[in-house]
Amino acid sequence: MKLKSLMGVALLAAAFAGSSFAQTRLVTLGTQGGPLPSTTRSQPANALIVRDRVYVIDAGDGVVRQLYAAGIDLRRIHQVFITHDHDDHNAGWGSLLGLQWDLNIWPVDVYAPSAQSMMQGFLQYFSVNARIRQADSKSDKMPPEQAFHAHDIQGNGLVFKDDLISVTAQENCHYGTDPNADKKRDPKDRSYALRIQTPDKTVVFSGDTGRCPALTGFAKDADLLVHEVIDLPLTREMMRRQHVPDPVADGMMRHMIDEHTVPEDIGRLAQDAKVKKVVLTHLVPGGDEPDERYTDGVHKYFKGPVMVARDLMVFE
Ligand SMILES: [Zn+2]
Repeated sequence: MKLKSLMGVALLAAAFAGSSFAQTRLVTLGTQGGPLPSTTRSQPANALIVRDRVYVIDAGDGVVRQLYAAGIDLRRIHQVFITHDHDDHNAGWGSLLGLQWDLNIWPVDVYAPSAQSMMQGFLQYFSVNARIRQADSKSDKMPPEQAFHAHDIQGNGLVFKDDLISVTAQENCHYGTDPNADKKRDPKDRSYALRIQTPDKTVVFSGDTGRCPALTGFAKDADLLVHEVIDLPLTREMMRRQHVPDPVADGMMRHMIDEHTVPEDIGRLAQDAKVKKVVLTHLVPGGDEPDERYTDGVHKYFKGPVMVARDLMVFE
């Protein structure tokens, strides 16, 4: 195990040992920008721990394994939030719900731009398994369609509130900016940043986004800005190494340039919004490049702390 991984595990152990007075802790479960898999990072997922509850923000492939690796009891999870419905952010969602149902954990509420259509697909996919397990089970199991509740995020504003947290959405800049294309766009085809207010912290998740002026006000004075990041030269180099044909790579790079964010723009945002700390995640290309490839550009404009997340790290 590498030193950095050991540090992550040590931090994790400390967080769960009650050594901190913080009521809110963020565990970065998966830190790789997808959808291509990585051997060193899981797909995007986060656990926001607030007292005895755990809120999951994004649920990429591998989220269940990462929750177990973090020592998080699935019985503490009753809300899952998906920032947008790209598969690197929702591919582990069904696995999580399925296992929760297997363990008699309900209700679970899911919030996503297309939560209801995803739920319809999940219930169909899960139905034969549920029927067989129900027949095998000695306990009464709630029908899956009653155990899970899907809520479409329908625009900017309040998404969820309980006695501990409130979650507010702001559409970000991930799906292109052509206003004509925008008019024709299905309301489900939207990508959101989320601002979560807890008893002691304001945590803002950028979601996947290009440079986005709307996020400056939205992230104002946040304690933690959890932002995606891309290194464009390294990404192009990775495509060359993987023999992606040039015309295909050019198209992919257009998406990378317009719909993801380089470190300098994160630095400008963090400075303008006066956030207290920046956590960089959803790394592209990800892998083992030095942290400075991501942090140096942020530091050009933002003088506060900037950290590069690894899987299973804990932030306060
Ligand atoms: Zn993504």
